[in-house]
Amino acid sequence: MKYSHVQNFINGQFVDTASSESLPVISPLDGMLLSAVPLSVQSDLDDAVAVAKKAFAAWSKTPIKERVQVFFKYKFLLEKHLDELAKLCSEENGKTYSESVAEIEKCIELTEFATSLPQLVTGEVLEVSRGVECRTEHVALGVVASIVPFNFPAMVPNWTIPNAIALGNCMILKPSEKVPLSCGLTAQLLKEAGLPDGVFNIVHGNDKMVNAICDHPGIEAVSFVGSIKVAKLVYQRATIHLKRCLALGGAKNHLLVLPDAIASMTAQNVVASMSGCAGQRCMGAGAMIGVGNIDHVIDKICEEARKVMPGKNLGAVINKASKERIEKYITEAETQGVKILVDGRNASVDGKENGSYVGPTVIDFVTPQMSVATEEIFGPVISIMRTNTVDEALTIENASPYGNAASVFTQNGAMARYIIDRASAGMIGVNVGVPVPREPFSFGGWNESKFGVGDITGKSSFQFWTKLRKSTVKWNAEAGLNWMS
Ligand code: NAD
Repeated sequence: MKYSHVQNFINGQFVDTASSESLPVISPLDGMLLSAVPLSVQSDLDDAVAVAKKAFAAWSKTPIKERVQVFFKYKFLLEKHLDELAKLCSEENGKTYSESVAEIEKCIELTEFATSLPQLVTGEVLEVSRGVECRTEHVALGVVASIVPFNFPAMVPNWTIPNAIALGNCMILKPSEKVPLSCGLTAQLLKEAGLPDGVFNIVHGNDKMVNAICDHPGIEAVSFVGSIKVAKLVYQRATIHLKRCLALGGAKNHLLVLPDAIASMTAQNVVASMSGCAGQRCMGAGAMIGVGNIDHVIDKICEEARKVMPGKNLGAVINKASKERIEKYITEAETQGVKILVDGRNASVDGKENGSYVGPTVIDFVTPQMSVATEEIFGPVISIMRTNTVDEALTIENASPYGNAASVFTQNGAMARYIIDRASAGMIGVNVGVPVPREPFSFGGWNESKFGVGDITGKSSFQFWTKLRKSTVKWNAEAGLNWMS
């Protein structure tokens, strides 16, 4: 085992779980055994909630301008440890080093946003009748939980950590059991930045721990990011226990390509979108709809896709089971009569034969009912459908139960606006393959890609992490008495 076994992080200390059960942590890059992650038990969670509750008393009373000082230091520490964090992230997740660097840079941007929260959460005050003031303030919720997926071991935790904590909450993070390593370094950096013990805690585990979090009476709010199936389960379970919940699910993002699109730029964007992070991004393209004759664009897409090489500029998928699942989708489509223009099955990398690699795959003449058209494959695969009109393309896009992202490639501004207004997705791009809103804009999809109100990052996230206190105040007798005061 390359690293020692993973521990929980409770009250500012790395501690062993009370459980004897664990799972291996294996690098998708080469199959190396990296570590073992504990399947923590109820008493571990109880300990974490108890210390978080205790820490909340002082942390929530600390003025926000003081709280964000920790995040100024944390941002500096992320910059200082960027290389170390990026290497760990790449090792446990399988993405390339440069993709991991981009992931940590995004953590820095998210933290930068949190440092600006004092300017954004100022509340409101108004003299509503003579001598009577109404005031609103954003008040922290208490102990909150963040449950995260495997595909961004550092970024998705940092969607929630800086904002939720800067706003005065104390947090329990439940990392993905597949990538439990980089969040340990995150915990160390937060401690070094001066975050008081108990404010941030990590409890490792799998579905049982997620259920325990949803059921725990000491936890006020649960944020979740992962697959649709689990997002639904978590949303239902947390809200049955009357918790606030925001659950982001999976995606099948459509790129609409019109004949006037700039071919080379479109091809580069399509390929980067479908193959970045080995296709394991909730914002990556899963389906492309060509409107009219776009054969010249498809030729260029194939050219670009062939430049993407496993083990070089393409990372691994998370594990062998995932590789098999992705290849099964391709094979099933093949038997249904599609044309596989670029085939990424049976990819392997010299010297890394135990890694889990799938090459870029371009599938043409897919029909809207095929599973490669409707389901999230979560691999470097693009399924191309063809229509005669934009409205037919929109009908296909609108029929998807998902609704994270959609993009259109065209030079016609009016047509782009037409599509923005009609696509059924929360995040829409024009000539952008991965339309992730940058801070201060919020991240969040529609339909079954998100359950709950508000978005997980940016300005709308503080609606989720705080509750509004409304006070009505009168100090002087001259204000008189009327029915409103
Ligand atoms: P996942 O749903 O399998 O796991 C997410 C978390 O839920 C993990 O911490 C895991 O331990 C836990 N979990 C797994 N099965 C569970 C169950 N049955 N009951 C309770 N908890 C359970 O997701 P994943 O495979 O880690 O991540 C990939 C998925 O996440 C993809 O579908 C991707 O689209 C989605 N994702 C969505 C977004 C978004 O913003 N919408 C962002 C990143 C990833």
